[in-house]
Amino acid sequence: ALAEAVSAAKGPGRTADRKRVPLLANIGGPADVEGALAHGAEGVGLFRTEFLFLDSAEAPTFEQQVATYRKVLSSFGDGRVVVRTLDAGADKPLAFLPTGEEPNPALGERALRMMRHHPDMLDTQLRALAEAARGLSADLWVMAPMVADGDDAAFFVDAARAAGLTEEAAKVGVMVEIPAAALRARDFAGGVDFFSIGTNDLAQYAFAADRQLGALARFQDPWQPALLDLIHATAEAANRAGKSCGVCGEAAADPALACVLVGLGVSSLSMSAPSLPMVRAVLAAHTVSQCVRAADAARRGTSADTARELARAALPGLS
Ligand code: PEP
Ligand code: MG
Repeated sequence: ALAEAVSAAKGPGRTADRKRVPLLANIGGPADVEGALAHGAEGVGLFRTEFLFLDSAEAPTFEQQVATYRKVLSSFGDGRVVVRTLDAGADKPLAFLPTGEEPNPALGERALRMMRHHPDMLDTQLRALAEAARGLSADLWVMAPMVADGDDAAFFVDAARAAGLTEEAAKVGVMVEIPAAALRARDFAGGVDFFSIGTNDLAQYAFAADRQLGALARFQDPWQPALLDLIHATAEAANRAGKSCGVCGEAAADPALACVLVGLGVSSLSMSAPSLPMVRAVLAAHTVSQCVRAADAARRGTSADTARELARAALPGLS
C-alpha cells in the first residue's frame, strides 16, 4: 500500500489537510538537476556551490560562475532555487581558499567566517548570482552558511544587497547550523528574509561530536531531543517574525521526522532527491494537527530512540 501511495503522490508537497510544504532538492551543481526533476522536486532548497569547486586549483571567475548558476536557475521555471554561498573549510576544503594552521578546523575560520576575510570573493559570487538570474523567472533565494549571530547575519545581508541582489532580485537569508544562532534566532529574524536549518552541522555543534567520525555517529541521529528543541526555537522565531524556515539537512529525508518538522513549525523541506517521493506520500497522509501532536510527543522523548517511537506512535499508519 505504501508503494502505491508513493507512486501516486505527485505534485507539490502538502499535508492531508492541504497545507503547502514545498519539497525541494539538495544539489551540488547542474549535474544533479535531472535527478531532482525526475523525483518531482519543486525547486532547490540547497545548492551547495562549493561542490562545484572541490577540484579547482584556482578561484572560479565571475563568468564561470554566471554560466553555471544560470544553468541551474533556468531549469526550474519559476520554482524556488536556494543557493548557498561558498561553505569552504573543515569537511569541505577548497584548494584556492587555504586556511591557516588551525587546531580545530570545524571550529575555525570556515564558511561565512572565511568569506568575511575574503570579501572580494563573496562579492564576486553574489554579483554572479545577480547576473545569472537576470531575465529569468526563477525565484532566487541566497543564503550564507555557518551564521553565528546577528552581526554575521547583518554582514551577509548588507553584502548581498550591495552586490545587486535587491529585494526584487532575491530573498536573502541565513543557515542556522550553530546552536547559538538557533537559540537566539529571534535577535536577527527581523533582518533576514528566511532561515534554513542545517541539521548536520547543528547536530555536530550541539553535541560537540565531529560529523565525520563513525564512532560518534549516534550524535548525528536527527531524532535527538536536543536537536528537536533547537529546531523548535528557530522555527518559532521565524514564525513570530513572519519569515519562512526550511530544513535542508539530512533530517528532512526521514518521512516520520519530516512530519515532526512540519509540526515544529518548519515551512519547507529539502533533501537528496531520491527521498522526495516517500516524504511526499507520508506528508500527504497526515494533517498539520497530527504533525504537531507528533512533534510534541517527540520532544517528550529523552533519547533519539524514544523520541522516534513516541512520534511514530502519534502518526497513524507509521507505528
Ligand atoms: C547541514 O549542515 O546540515 C547542511 C545542510 O549543510 P552541509 O551538510 O553541506 O554542511
Ligand atoms: Mg552545514
